[in-house]
Amino acid sequence: SLPVVVIAGRPNVGKSTLFNRLAGRRYAIVSDQPGVTRDRKSVDIMLQNRAVTLMDTAGWEEDDPQTVFGRMRESSERAVDCADVIIFCVDARAGITPVDEHFAQWLRKQGRKIVLVANKAEGHAGNIAALEMYSFGLGEPIPVSAEHGEGMVDLVDAVLERL
Ligand code: GDP
Ligand code: MG
Repeated sequence: SLPVVVIAGRPNVGKSTLFNRLAGRRYAIVSDQPGVTRDRKSVDIMLQNRAVTLMDTAGWEEDDPQTVFGRMRESSERAVDCADVIIFCVDARAGITPVDEHFAQWLRKQGRKIVLVANKAEGHAGNIAALEMYSFGLGEPIPVSAEHGEGMVDLVDAVLERL
């Protein structure tokens, strides 16, 4: 079977938008409302010349950070278990939230290869958040804009380096 690349992160950071961008078409539903991605979605795609299975993961609508984290973990656990590389997506405009921090800590313990992505970074938005993301201890964040298609070459390179 193909190497598995999982897109993970809290609700509304743009995971499904990134999934669609990398897949080259709209497979996943993108919405302003958190909690729209109910099921894990996956699609086989080419990253340059490498075939991989790309997986989107669910978002959840609860406001309570503890609950959101618990549910994210539940939804991500199986995906992360079969992941060769995890794209950990953070919203550079919103900045780092307690849920991001929780999730980063949990991800670090999973012993998977991680690409840290600062999404919504079009027009240099979120440079400060990107700097803050170094504190996750997950390496250098890659600024991207899933919506505008910026930073995709750097992101794909980073994923391929870890496969
Ligand atoms: P998910 O819950 O993590 O899957 O997030 P979605 O992909 O559904 O996106 C949540 C919201 O963020 C939507 O309104 C998207 O249009 C918006 N969004 C996604 N990527 C970007 C981006 O690169 N820049 C900006 N400004 N908005 C984005
Ligand atoms: Mg989604």
